[in-house]
Amino acid sequence: MTFITRFAPSPTGPLHLGHAYSVLFAHDRARAEGGRFLLRIDDIDQSRARPHWEAQLMDDLAWLGVTWDAPPRRQTDHLREYGDALDRLRAADLTFECQCSRRDIEAAANAPQEGVPEFGPDGRIYPGTCRDLGLRQSGETCCRLNMARACAMGLPAQFTETGPRHAGQQHLSADSLTQTVGDVVLSRRNMAASYHLSVVVDDAASGVTHVIRGEDLYEATRIHVLLQSLLGLPTPVYHHHGLIRDDRGKRLAKRDDARAIAKYRSEGATPQDIRRMVGL
Ligand code: GLU
Repeated sequence: MTFITRFAPSPTGPLHLGHAYSVLFAHDRARAEGGRFLLRIDDIDQSRARPHWEAQLMDDLAWLGVTWDAPPRRQTDHLREYGDALDRLRAADLTFECQCSRRDIEAAANAPQEGVPEFGPDGRIYPGTCRDLGLRQSGETCCRLNMARACAMGLPAQFTETGPRHAGQQHLSADSLTQTVGDVVLSRRNMAASYHLSVVVDDAASGVTHVIRGEDLYEATRIHVLLQSLLGLPTPVYHHHGLIRDDRGKRLAKRDDARAIAKYRSEGATPQDIRRMVGL
């Protein structure tokens, strides 16, 4: 089997040391395996993606010595594919339309129950307000996965994790998905596909065999594997690596310009210096 992995930055800010670690780790691995390394531009969230960040990240990656083996895949070039996947989930009756605003969700979730988590990998766990209302799709609604129904159709599903924190075979459980993840958003009025739906379609379309990414996305992987199962797509091997943290132990965020690769470059650092800083 050819080893195919990818780096999938969102062009919503500068790449920082955390991204440098992730991309170099994945790139080194692809080269060591004699496999393919792909670049994807995760620009599905057009409210935040900016062309100048995309140009900057390509420049930073080339400077780091990263090469990709196919033209980069840009999510906004593939909206039809996400729409088709969504149509299939809708046709299988695994979705519902939701008209709740963020404030509605906060209000409905106001009385936390003991032992029931309030937040999952997709933010506040949806309280189910619109689940059984049979709302019609409109410019005012978003589309959510009916998690209980999806589990009934898509499980058992499992995936192989090779990262340091959770290594081994990971099994999805309906109880855990419904209670700790809930009815995740699949598309919004201003976003053709959510992060979860788009990455699942993208990884399959690119033939990705190994997803290598930061530990912060580990919890979302259950959603991805369930969607793969529902859509009949292959499940790659996952490797969630540790995160680069700042001096106070906080993980780096996009707005953490202080650790932007561009800043180190402007101060005369070499790619080798960056590798040293991230421990590679
Ligand atoms: N675009 C996502 C991010 O920048 C990563 C997607 C993924 O690796 O699955 O966080």
